[in-house]
Amino acid sequence: MSRWLRLTAGLTLLLALAIRVHASEDADAIRSFIMGMPKAELHIHLEGTLEAEDYLEIMARNDLPSRYPDAAAVRDRLQYARDLDTFIEVYEELLSAMQTAWDFEDVAMRYVARVADQGVVHVEMFFDPQMHTYRGIPLATVMAGLQRAHERAREEFGVSLWFIACFNRDRSRDSALRHLEALRPYRDLVIGVGLDNPEEIDFPEKFAPVFARAAELGFRRTTHLDVDVPNTNAHHWAVLDLLDVERIDHGLNVADDPELIQEVRARGIALTACPTLLFREIPGRLESRLARIRTLLQAGIQISLHSDDPGLMRDLYIGDLYLLAHEEGGFSRKEIEALARNSFLSSWIDDDRRNAWMGAFDDWLAAHPVAF
Ligand SMILES: [Zn+2]
Repeated sequence: MSRWLRLTAGLTLLLALAIRVHASEDADAIRSFIMGMPKAELHIHLEGTLEAEDYLEIMARNDLPSRYPDAAAVRDRLQYARDLDTFIEVYEELLSAMQTAWDFEDVAMRYVARVADQGVVHVEMFFDPQMHTYRGIPLATVMAGLQRAHERAREEFGVSLWFIACFNRDRSRDSALRHLEALRPYRDLVIGVGLDNPEEIDFPEKFAPVFARAAELGFRRTTHLDVDVPNTNAHHWAVLDLLDVERIDHGLNVADDPELIQEVRARGIALTACPTLLFREIPGRLESRLARIRTLLQAGIQISLHSDDPGLMRDLYIGDLYLLAHEEGGFSRKEIEALARNSFLSSWIDDDRRNAWMGAFDDWLAAHPVAF
């Protein structure tokens, strides 16, 4: 090789190395920006934050026998949950570890600690009161634990943590009404109500009196509308007409109907989207969810990203999901910012607190000029 050729080859190598170093510095800067960016988590289930290790530890301290020898076996069981019915079966099995007020406080605080480095500053956390009262845990026990977690989240992490009580759609209307009345003393802690579990036919009609009463009592209102389930279009319209909801959890099928898009936008209803809902290893599912999230964002819907059941769902917490939207879905900085901004706009905190969090959000953007 001539001297000239050697020199050229050397320079090319140096240039390639420089580009690679620069690219990885960029990737690190993007990652830090997305992870640290202040955000509100509005769609997360207390019971779904339980990780395999938490479950085993809590079972052991409560002297409950576990059928799983180790965390790997619990995770294997979770892999079995590929649809909503089997997922709920596993979910109910694992949440049975929670017995005492300390367990509820502990599970909520483990979550808050896990997302402390993912920019989470405000959380509106679902819990399923019926799933606990029906197995003999008094509501007062659940609420005592959640009250402590609310206080400790603020004191120890500066996080505002409130709760939303979800009624199960596969349980009776009377049960939901009874639980709603029982929640009245906890109005300061439970800011709203929602609906989850399987999407039974005509559930909006079934729960219309519950939501009317909830509105009367001053609770905010949301409901799950799962993705690609039978009757989804009719359910979306019925929820708008009969439940007077302010948010919809998931709601990605709004993207399929231009009239729904228009109506949801006109009413200012926010969507709390979860790209990983039961996605597991099903090919194309994540991509189709991210594509619909983008469509709804571009249509001017107040949509934001959330983690749903991160403990049970392969450890993807909210910051991980924002990162996934960028890395797998090609979401730009502008889109990532819009999703996070929407999370504050959609939250049910008072305006003073909202303004404070949004001020911190704007400061973060200004201090991190990384472009992508
Ligand atoms: Zn959910």
